[in-house]
Amino acid sequence: MSPSTHLENPDPGSRETGLSPSIEIDHVTKAFGDSIALRTVDLEIARARTTVLIGPSGCGKSTLLRLIVGLIQPTAGAIRFEGEEVSPVSVAALRQRMGYVIQEGGLFPHLSAKDNILLMAKQLGWSSARQQERLDTLLSLTKLPREALGRYPNELSGGQRQRVSLMRALMLDPDVLLLDEPLGALDPMIRADLQQELRAIFRRLDKTVVLVTHDLHEAGYFADDIVVFREGEIEQRGRFADLLRKPATDFVRAFVSAQRGLTADEGARS
Ligand code: ADP
Ligand code: MG
Repeated sequence: MSPSTHLENPDPGSRETGLSPSIEIDHVTKAFGDSIALRTVDLEIARARTTVLIGPSGCGKSTLLRLIVGLIQPTAGAIRFEGEEVSPVSVAALRQRMGYVIQEGGLFPHLSAKDNILLMAKQLGWSSARQQERLDTLLSLTKLPREALGRYPNELSGGQRQRVSLMRALMLDPDVLLLDEPLGALDPMIRADLQQELRAIFRRLDKTVVLVTHDLHEAGYFADDIVVFREGEIEQRGRFADLLRKPATDFVRAFVSAQRGLTADEGARS
């Protein structure tokens, strides 16, 4: 068995719903001054599946997530979430239906884990009984030890911080979960464990998930659908297996073979 085969999501496509897309990226361009981070990107993100966005550093992955959650506005084109355009007017309401884990986790250092997780629910005036019930659900989902709740982010392990970031993103029970390189900062052993746990969590949640990574190995592990970006444009989208068997461009071929080599080396060391 090749190293990438046994790590591939064993069950891609099993959750095909035939429903309308959850998120539509419609001819989106994003420029920062003279530099174009995304160029006329068209993409539909399927409901209740995991879509992985992959590509080298600087290709526009984080920019796309920030556009989806409405932190920044497209220079041209539109983004629709559940049919409604993400705009400065709609964003506050829509944001409550999107859980977002930023690249560095983004926990507030001066708040305990618990206060980080509960922040939004408190702002929305949830009763303490409702807050507690949701917190208990999330503790059992993520297996965060209860005693970690009282600690500050710098007193948590990398894996615990990642769980707390995930719990915070899930607190309001959003329709979609957007994760920007959620395991990027972790060392390889912890990372492998958390990959397994995260995938199990995604399966249990049955939500629309958009996960950003630059790691092909990780992409294959999570992806129902995969989208390869290069310099702000989509190079290929489809099933992970197609990326390996039928790379659409020379770039994809090179990207895949470079990372498959890395994956094989990692396998040989462990
Ligand atoms: P990725 O997440 O794929 O590594 P990013 O989306 O962070 O890439 O960045 C895409 C491109 O846009 C890069 O060239 C980056 O320098 C640029 N960029 C991103 N955010 C900003 C910003 N706020 N101001 C100027 N340039 C930016
Ligand atoms: Mg990024």
